Amino acid sequence: MQCAELVSYLSDYIDNNLSEELTREAQEHLATCQNCHIVLDSTQRTILLYRQRGQRAGLSPRRHESLFNQLAETLASRPAEPNCE
Ligand SMILES: [Zn+2]
Repeated sequence: MQCAELVSYLSDYIDNNLSEELTREAQEHLATCQNCHIVLDSTQRTILLYRQRGQRAGLSPRRHESLFNQLAETLASRPAEPNCE
């Protein structure tokens, strides 16, 4: 699994909506990719915050877009991760 793929599955991963196979692939990727770990962390915090406010917890397309941007920035500001593909 690649970073962009992981990010696109992220909200489903957090909600446990992925198939067993995809969940395993996501976990394997997260275990080796620090960048996606950071993105997962901040996404989980955001979703938690929404839920505490009683708002809809899903990620809007706009939120997805900003996640991709955040990931791109994170990747650009760090040395390449050899395991991150
Ligand atoms: Zn990654």
